[in-house]
Amino acid sequence: MTAGSGFAEQDLSTPKRAWGQRLPGIRQRLQSSANVLALTFDACGGGYDRQLMDMLLHNHVAATLFISGRWIDRHPREFAWLAQQPLFSIGNHGLEHKPCSVTGRGAYGIRGTGSVDELQKEVQGNAKKIEQLSGCKPTLFRAGTAYYDAQAVDFIQKMGYTPVGFNVNGDGGASYSAKQIKKQLLTAKPGSIILLHMNRPQGFTAEGLLLALPELKQRGMTFVTLDVKGLH
Ligand SMILES: [Zn+2]
Repeated sequence: MTAGSGFAEQDLSTPKRAWGQRLPGIRQRLQSSANVLALTFDACGGGYDRQLMDMLLHNHVAATLFISGRWIDRHPREFAWLAQQPLFSIGNHGLEHKPCSVTGRGAYGIRGTGSVDELQKEVQGNAKKIEQLSGCKPTLFRAGTAYYDAQAVDFIQKMGYTPVGFNVNGDGGASYSAKQIKKQLLTAKPGSIILLHMNRPQGFTAEGLLLALPELKQRGMTFVTLDVKGLH
């Protein structure tokens, strides 16, 4: 393979083959030592946990919602309504909820994007969809499964987006019990970005959050969206 034969073909040096959820360049926490937490809810595909969203609004809890193009196609009215809520910020969770790679590397049995072109479509295709439907261009991006390779991280930044990860796995893909979710949430430190899900109404994410909220508030924690200026 010759030098300059294309972005994807430069994936030869060892550091550039790095792959994971915690690579340099992926935002995993807020740059703040204040008592703030960022709750993030992924809408990967599937259903809509309306009870969870109502609970957040009822309790005045701000949150960032990472929404895939697939989810928007299934729930266009719900998306439009969520995008209008001042407590919520909308982030981009990819057009087809793919792990972000330039080689097709995947995670959890989901094949990743296989080239720079495919990566671009995954990121920009859904950014356009969100902008067309909500009027706001999302700048925050979380890959499907939150897995990236180093070149994808670099390319996403060059496209003008911030790759986002997490440092607290709040609900294990909405598979945890309410008690487990509470326990996870209480491990959060000031500035934590917490990963939760809003696409599994049969899960216990709302229940777990309700169990943890009183203690988090007692600790003086407040909730912010990821795009609040000064907290990045
Ligand atoms: Zn997801």
